[in-house]
Amino acid sequence: MVLQNSPTVLPAAEALPPKDPESLFAMAVEAVNRACDVLQCPQYVKAILGQPKNELIVNFPVRMDNGTYRVFKGYRIQHNNILGPYKGGIRYHPEMSLDDGKALATWMTMKCALMRLPYGGAKGGVKMNPRELSPAELMRMTRRFTAALGDTIGPEYDIPAPDVGTNAQIMDWMMDTYLNTHEGVGKQGLRSVVTGKSVACGGSEGREKATGQGIVYVLQELLPEFLIHIEGMRFSVLGFGNVGGNAATILQSLGAKLVAVMDHTGAMRATKADGAIDAADLAKYVAETGAIKGYAEKRPNRGELETVDAENFYKTPVDVFIPAALERMVNKQVAEWLNCRVLAEGGNGPCTPEADQVLGYRNIAVLPAILCNAGGVTVSYLEWVQNKAGVRWELERVDAELKKTISNAARRVRLAAHQYGVDMSTAAYVVAIDHISKAYVQRGIFP
Ligand code: NAD
Repeated sequence: MVLQNSPTVLPAAEALPPKDPESLFAMAVEAVNRACDVLQCPQYVKAILGQPKNELIVNFPVRMDNGTYRVFKGYRIQHNNILGPYKGGIRYHPEMSLDDGKALATWMTMKCALMRLPYGGAKGGVKMNPRELSPAELMRMTRRFTAALGDTIGPEYDIPAPDVGTNAQIMDWMMDTYLNTHEGVGKQGLRSVVTGKSVACGGSEGREKATGQGIVYVLQELLPEFLIHIEGMRFSVLGFGNVGGNAATILQSLGAKLVAVMDHTGAMRATKADGAIDAADLAKYVAETGAIKGYAEKRPNRGELETVDAENFYKTPVDVFIPAALERMVNKQVAEWLNCRVLAEGGNGPCTPEADQVLGYRNIAVLPAILCNAGGVTVSYLEWVQNKAGVRWELERVDAELKKTISNAARRVRLAAHQYGVDMSTAAYVVAIDHISKAYVQRGIFP
């Protein structure tokens, strides 16, 4: 798309993305800029997308079980809302930072636009380790954080969801706190302020597995390009939490073989050439123990497994590798070690720019995160729609809607890759920004 006569608007000097090569936000902006240039979209759209609209930091005290008080730092970054309310997860992690939040919020804008959801992008979180807090402390911290966010969030304004370190329980507490801090007889209608709630509290069937399920639908749509069939396909997963665990379990149910897995406690792989790790059983074990550590020793009858170091995990030959842990874990070295044909980005921003270059010259196809892991936000949208309409859908309907939405997006990406002669990652951003750009051009800039 070429738009004529668009006024040139350059970002203010202080609004330029950071030059720090370690900055995740710089990585996100670089990807956005590259796609804007391919698309030749108006300069002002590129400048607007280069910064979040709002960046909120809150410092708030919480009473600990032993009677002392601890001050926590929380964030909410609202990147863009041209297409609809801000939407994005809440992360509880010791490394949570403003820069990472800005990157993750940018990716949410791209993801929602690529899926054609009527949402913008946001992200937030608290800099802390949830494993160090008791359940009662975690509840008080979550409630106080929600109260500190106040009307920064709202069902028609900004709708949080789970991310790393948070789950349905945290969303239920957020929703309950929001309802109890808002007056009026209409407050029951406010439960759509967060998504990813438990089904008992208004969550949707299928939300828990949605991100993993979305990866599988993307693979079903795009793997035929690479002459890979899911049945019999060998794959490895980095990170065995919500995303990695669900993707692996669903792929296994379709006949694929999980041959290697790694999380923050270690790595293991199947020893026999035709062997596999039982993904469903490992997911149960992780739900009970919190990590994969000890599985290879404790359940040897489940298959012949060996523990391996990181290098040998990455070097294990597979058809598809799914990084579903934290950002930047696939660096240049890892990209050189990998022995796969396709890398499906389950987590956000798993590959550094240097890694992307190595993967490019090694001819390893990368299926981008804003496509692969959009299943979570898509089912979050379906939960929001059900809450607003006061209805409950069966799992079959939710899965069918998810499949349609994400498969259509995958087709748009494939088409754009051919049309513009770019890789799938750039194509995904091109499709997203084309949609956003049209909305800006139609609406114009106020006043
Ligand atoms: P999670 O907390 O459930 O799981 C994270 C996994 O990463 C765990 O298995 C953990 O052991 C592993 N991990 C952490 N540090 C590691 C390290 N140093 N080495 C190896 N493994 C490590 O988180 P999740 O919800 O599965 O999210 C994973 C990624 O997917 C994140 O990038 C998140 O932003 C993204 N994502 C999640 C959702 C969702 O619905 N949960 C949706 C879209 C994107």
